[in-house]
Amino acid sequence: MRYNIAVIPGDGIGPEVVGQAQSVLDSVGWKFGHSFGFHPALMGGCAIDATGVPLPDETVELCKGSDAVLLGAVGGPQWEALPGHLRPEAGLLAIRAELGLYANLRPAILHPALIGACPLRPELVDGGFDLVFVRELTGGIYFGKRGRQGDTAFDTETYSVYEIERVGRVAFELALKRGNRLCSVDKANVLETSRLWREVMHSLRAEYPGVDYSDMLADNAAMQLIRGPRRFDVIVTSNMFGDILSDEAGMLTGSIGMLASASIGGGTLGLYEPVHGSAPDIAGKDKANPIAAILSAAMLLRVSLGLEKEARAVETAVTSALDAGYRTADIWSEGCKLVGTREMGSVIVENMI
Ligand code: NAD
Repeated sequence: MRYNIAVIPGDGIGPEVVGQAQSVLDSVGWKFGHSFGFHPALMGGCAIDATGVPLPDETVELCKGSDAVLLGAVGGPQWEALPGHLRPEAGLLAIRAELGLYANLRPAILHPALIGACPLRPELVDGGFDLVFVRELTGGIYFGKRGRQGDTAFDTETYSVYEIERVGRVAFELALKRGNRLCSVDKANVLETSRLWREVMHSLRAEYPGVDYSDMLADNAAMQLIRGPRRFDVIVTSNMFGDILSDEAGMLTGSIGMLASASIGGGTLGLYEPVHGSAPDIAGKDKANPIAAILSAAMLLRVSLGLEKEARAVETAVTSALDAGYRTADIWSEGCKLVGTREMGSVIVENMI
């Protein structure tokens, strides 16, 4: 089967890590008899330099006509002085909106081989952990009415039943494919939007009797993630709580260079990208960890293309590389073999074949 993937390498380390993710996808193709057509597109600073805008129309069209989108990272100091709507990051918000992507999946996985890189005491994370956030991506306080009145400022959070239900369904379905546990995080003791959030989640719960469902207040969730991340499987929450809590959980995994993400909407088209930015400090030096991008490609296989065993093969190849002691600088520790971006990618590809 042939799949068309729009590839947006972006800026800084984006092209370096996306290049390795493409090599891994090619190795999936050889091993499992698929072919991937990669179609490059511009977004971010490189798009501003070439076309004057962070998200050219051709990029949007290409993405809409593809099976999935693989993205590196955008941004850098040379574009920071531009007005907000013309900055590279404006392209990110715009492409998510154009593709109708309302749910952000962010796994936080601590590989047993990296327990030493986790800031928690080893006994709290014995054996590692594997949880995933489902963050509502297009609503809530980040998109509500905001403004200033005299010396007062305000932001408003609004959620509709429709918005909550569609992201809730993504989370319940995901829980069914994983450990059957779903924790919904809100602030229903204070916020009216959270009370509606909880009502909608409870009505969905009736449709998913196989899922072990629980509610948790956001402040408690912040504590429980530190106390024992292993208790979580899938966590669903609003845009702002998801933004904050997924970063907290990400820090427990050792490095931002390990964190993958997927943004999905109603159909199968999704956008897959590492959580990290363009890391201008290490760009072009073969120092970036490509694992976040490679694991994002694994999510692409699983979520947009429905290729579960292929996705698992990529994840297993990553685990094997870590178990064999290969480390980029961000996750290196005494006794391990220090490798660059390209060598880490090659080791993972060799593990695939
Ligand atoms: P960053 O994630 O780029 O870098 C933060 C730190 O983590 C740096 O020290 C960097 O070297 C390190 N790091 C990041 N990815 C790494 C990897 N794969 N391997 C090893 N180390 C890695 O965040 P920043 O420095 O705040 O932002 C740099 C630029 O990226 C800014 O222009 C910012 O706006 C942009 N940004 C883009 C995205 C995105 O495209 N989704 C996300 C965040 C930041």
